[in-house]
Amino acid sequence: MARLVAVSNRIPLGDSPSGGLVVALEDALRTSGGLWVGFSGETTETPADDLTFHEGAAFGRASFDLTAEDHDSYYLGFSNSVLWPVCHGRADLMRILPEYLEGYRRVNERIARLLVPHLREDDHIWVQDYQLFPLAQELRKLGVTAPIGHFLHIPFPGPTDCGTLPNPDELFTWLSYYDLAGFQTQRDLDNFAASARSLSDFARLSDNHFRIAGRDMHTGVFPIGIDTEAFIAEAQAAREEDRMRSLTGAQIMIGVDRLDYSKGIPQRFRAFQALLDGDPSLTERVMLLQIAPPTREAVDAYQQIREETEHLAGRINGQFATVNWTPIRFIHRPIPRNELAGLYRQARIGLVTPLADGMNLVAKEYVAAQDPADPGVLILSRFAGAAEQLTEALIINPHDPTEMAQAMHQAIDMGLEERQARHAALLRCVMEHDVGWWSRAYLDALAHARD
Ligand code: ADP
Repeated sequence: MARLVAVSNRIPLGDSPSGGLVVALEDALRTSGGLWVGFSGETTETPADDLTFHEGAAFGRASFDLTAEDHDSYYLGFSNSVLWPVCHGRADLMRILPEYLEGYRRVNERIARLLVPHLREDDHIWVQDYQLFPLAQELRKLGVTAPIGHFLHIPFPGPTDCGTLPNPDELFTWLSYYDLAGFQTQRDLDNFAASARSLSDFARLSDNHFRIAGRDMHTGVFPIGIDTEAFIAEAQAAREEDRMRSLTGAQIMIGVDRLDYSKGIPQRFRAFQALLDGDPSLTERVMLLQIAPPTREAVDAYQQIREETEHLAGRINGQFATVNWTPIRFIHRPIPRNELAGLYRQARIGLVTPLADGMNLVAKEYVAAQDPADPGVLILSRFAGAAEQLTEALIINPHDPTEMAQAMHQAIDMGLEERQARHAALLRCVMEHDVGWWSRAYLDALAHARD
């Protein structure tokens, strides 16, 4: 059996950072006894010339440090101020500087150099996400012949957005060095094909087989899942004292997101405002619990979204609150997973309304956490990758506050039988396509891509 070597931007050392990728990879590696390599999270003036190995996990973990300059240009710069906004349809928030791209290339080249001495002949290498697009090309330059796959956790942009990158043709060159490029949804694969056709030297040999710049590569759609059984157990074990208490017995709508402009939090707040405006009888009967830990605060666009969200929550609360009831409860911190699972279960409505999202694991966690005898209702943006699978949710356009407010009303009024039927279908999907299914499907396809 091949050893799995996973490479991602970050690896969890000590306190795990939140994020779907961390949760998913940990599950995938535990079963394969593999090695996980990534950035330590530490910047230093003189990073070591070798990987640092860490004990204490059920698989090998090795990290590297970055200089502050590399962290700024590779991570905050090209990854999160160029690729992230473009992939999430916000080219207007992009900041193009030549040193960002240079740093991005330099760090990927360095990661390849650090990795090569630790590779074995029978390895299968699985590169995660948009921070590491160039890694396969760099590894090939150093003579690595093992199968190398890439999985993109975020959306792939269509030709118009792709064309706003400073280097669209280079993106396709980077991808062409992988044996397998995996996407979350069919929409992403279609965008990849359309963008590659218009921006690179491209031929489609079959549905999932492409030739780019003379190199053959395979593609596939692998919607990422959660550790569903573990999450169900977590929600069932949730403690009474961790539940939210309300003076007025209001029903809870819950939103759980990193505070990112792609998550549509202001749009969600405005829809909630439209709901309260349109139906005064909902006063004290419904509330929105928004859990949104700040993220990437060194990037300007993230400071702006934080200010906008806080301002809006303050305004809505000022407009509608009563002595016993605050319509929006806004928490700016991560919450332990077991508490989160209990809050999902308690919430009558799960609000997952991103403007763009690769998958959105919160949608799947919300479904898994429900009590099947009395489940809540999921309201889901059609622009979340999860909408391709979770078709029994109330699917909405997050840009339309009236439509979203109507869905909130429909969810509040929905009878038990309809809630149970919708939830049963959603749960079946989340159980069948869990994170174990995802990694097996991907790694099988990677092995076959080489055959
Ligand atoms: P993204 O990867 O863009 O952050 P996902 O919805 O795919 O979005 O994954 C987010 C993950 O982070 C989920 O597993 C969710 O439970 C977790 N998470 C998000 N916000 C919090 C929070 N405030 N406290 C704890 N975990 C959180």
